[in-house]
Amino acid sequence: MKLREYEAKKVLREYGIPVPAGFLTRSATDLPAHLDQLGDNVVLKAQVDFGGRGKAGGILMTNKKNAVATAQSLFGKEIKGLPVQEILAEQRLDIRHEYYLSITVDRSSKQPLILFTESGGVDIEITAKEHPEAIHKVIANPLMRDIPPFMIRELVGTAPKEIGPIINKLYRVFLEKDALLAEINPLVTTPDGVFAADAKLIIDDNALGRQGFSVNRDLTEREREAEKHGFSYVELNGSIGVIGNGAGLTMSTLDLIEFYGGRAANFLDVGGGAESERVMHAVRLVGSVPSVKVIVVNLLGGITKCDEVARGIIKAAISQKVIVRLAGTNEAEGRAMLSAKGYEMLDTMDLVVKKAVEVAA
Ligand code: GDP
Ligand code: MN
Repeated sequence: MKLREYEAKKVLREYGIPVPAGFLTRSATDLPAHLDQLGDNVVLKAQVDFGGRGKAGGILMTNKKNAVATAQSLFGKEIKGLPVQEILAEQRLDIRHEYYLSITVDRSSKQPLILFTESGGVDIEITAKEHPEAIHKVIANPLMRDIPPFMIRELVGTAPKEIGPIINKLYRVFLEKDALLAEINPLVTTPDGVFAADAKLIIDDNALGRQGFSVNRDLTEREREAEKHGFSYVELNGSIGVIGNGAGLTMSTLDLIEFYGGRAANFLDVGGGAESERVMHAVRLVGSVPSVKVIVVNLLGGITKCDEVARGIIKAAISQKVIVRLAGTNEAEGRAMLSAKGYEMLDTMDLVVKKAVEVAA
């Protein structure tokens, strides 16, 4: 789950990382009561759930006198289609240089990966492509509570020494908050010292409970419903719904859809041993996405019984076309039930996917 900038900055502040003075506001009229704590130069930052706000017009420079009017205009805006509901008002920094600092999990070494570059403020992906040598990398042993000085030197290079302790503090945040990403972009130098001008913190969903979050608010209502039933469910942006059992079968169904030029709208893995009720919920959930024109059900009966699957599909009684491939335990019974109700069944995964791509087109 991704924290908003003001939430992430609150965490950084708790760990002693300097962040600009600021406060969150949900209405422009609330501003004057708190403006005194910011000084004359003010920056207003829309708290929306994606990066690149600067370029999208979500960050406005203003001053104490014009802050209310500027906030009014920002509240009236949509940033990439999303209305601005929260603004972080901050003391505007006199930025001399922008650096980039992040900590993620390196998938191959399975250890924290710390990145630092002197060209911050821009997308790290662009720097990685155009000047990969400018990105300094260090793999940290998660059993260490501190990053040793030689590693800090490797990261910081010729950048100001004050950055060293900030790296160590961010590393603590990363470990103790069960983060998948802790990023400061830009980390800036000013005449008053070094500050985290922006902050991004993604908490591992598996740790939300112990981190004190009751729900993952990034989930859509459908994703939450899926979680309740214990389905693995992901939304994409095509028009074919996909139901499979097992990650491998579900993923290869998706691959095949791409292969035949189709696009999946979503996919759902019902898991093993699905009873008819479960299958019914799965079919309804996948079919509840308005863009779904056709659903591919690709299930292998093992512990899962094909007649239970058939019963579930029939009970779901959704309006879209459902194309089914069933094989394995109680296959004959399942097929007989579905064909009695007029469902289209094909013998192989290849055939069902081809057919679904045709229907969707
Ligand atoms: P993002 O675009 O969503 O990543 O938002 P950021 O918070 O990173 O801001 C984008 C850019 O706005 C930064 O790289 C800075 O160049 C600029 N910016 C943000 N805050 C300040 C500030 O207090 N003072 C100045 N001068 N520039 C700022
Ligand atoms: Mn940023």
